[in-house]
Amino acid sequence: MSVLLFILDGLGGRPPKSALMLSKHPNFDHLLENGTGGLLYVHDKKTAPESEDAHLQIFGYDPKIYLKGRGPLEALGANVKLKTGDIAFRTNFATIDSKGVVIDRRAGRIKTREAKKLEKPINSIKVTGKTPGIKNVKIIFRQTVDHRGVLVLRNKAVGSVLSSQISNTDPAHPKTGVIAKWKGKKILKSEPIIKSKEAEITADILNKFTKIAIEKLSKADVNKKRIKNKKLPANAILVRGPGYYCPVAPMKERFGIKAACIAGGALYKGCAKYVGMDIINVKGASGDENTNLKAKFAAAKKALKKYDLVFLHVKATDVFGHDKDCKAKAKFIEKVDKAFKPLIKLKTPIIITGDHATPCTVGEHTSNPIPILIYADKIPNDKLKIFNEKSCTKGGLGIVYGKHIIPIIIYLLEL
Ligand code: ZN
Ligand code: ZN
Repeated sequence: MSVLLFILDGLGGRPPKSALMLSKHPNFDHLLENGTGGLLYVHDKKTAPESEDAHLQIFGYDPKIYLKGRGPLEALGANVKLKTGDIAFRTNFATIDSKGVVIDRRAGRIKTREAKKLEKPINSIKVTGKTPGIKNVKIIFRQTVDHRGVLVLRNKAVGSVLSSQISNTDPAHPKTGVIAKWKGKKILKSEPIIKSKEAEITADILNKFTKIAIEKLSKADVNKKRIKNKKLPANAILVRGPGYYCPVAPMKERFGIKAACIAGGALYKGCAKYVGMDIINVKGASGDENTNLKAKFAAAKKALKKYDLVFLHVKATDVFGHDKDCKAKAKFIEKVDKAFKPLIKLKTPIIITGDHATPCTVGEHTSNPIPILIYADKIPNDKLKIFNEKSCTKGGLGIVYGKHIIPIIIYLLEL
């Protein structure tokens, strides 16, 4: 037996205007009619989760213990082979003026085709100076999608001299979890956020890197061309979300579950890779509204033959929630439901839920519960007919928490 865990990012909403209540989803309803429903709180009833802590919790890895910053998860998702002690960040190509003031945090929405060409000059950066241990630090930079990328600082010496306890250089995100107005602000200087020599050294290296990156980017052909064509140059790198990488025991070892991931977004692939899932790359799985649902679902169907657990993820539900676009979120749910049809005939147990609520009436993540359905042959049926926030309050599952998902999966695998 295998289990399909399907997470629609930010699925949850607030009744009566939730996207699930505003849309028709006969295939999800069919699964619920033949299964059982409930409400999921990922952490507790008060916390609005972020995607990374929510996914780790659902995968059975308590984020309080296992989450060491978002950077390493993004880097793993971008296919960087991390080593213990690496410090990883998320990055943006940005445009700054001659005084260092950030004009655009996305460098005129530079596309991957051009941004990729900037990888090489950045990777050639060698940070030098009087900082102790600095000659042992390697810079690894990977552009991912458009202006986005990841930066890794690797200490090549034995024993770690690097720390993730430093502040961001992105003025829109001075600290993890803090959002600030960035217009008119300069790139921030990274500072240690704890009193530690290692954090001081790392912040110093990052500041030196930022300075050299500006010099290198100003000389890049891509940027000279962009300026000539009156486009904003990608002449600086902003970093945020520092994290320390340390491998963890994989799911197979901890729970005896052999798992695979099908997702478009780097963060989700990174979370999955971190907990030891195999990543199945699907052509056209873009992590946005145009993702190739048909190809992803076909790949999931195939993977169920080989794996105990297949984690399937779609992202756009969350994006439309942030955009406060109820119509688009509802329409996307209908599109996903339609594409899901070939999977409802499987004998495989299926769990469908979200990682948090992103109500389209609010525009951000909230602590509201997320409807969850479990479809399996041999579980008691609660006679629910429609999958949404309201009906699931009467579900046979009652209230479940993120930490219950892996025990539920183990139960389903043993059916
Ligand atoms: Zn999410
Ligand atoms: Zn979100």
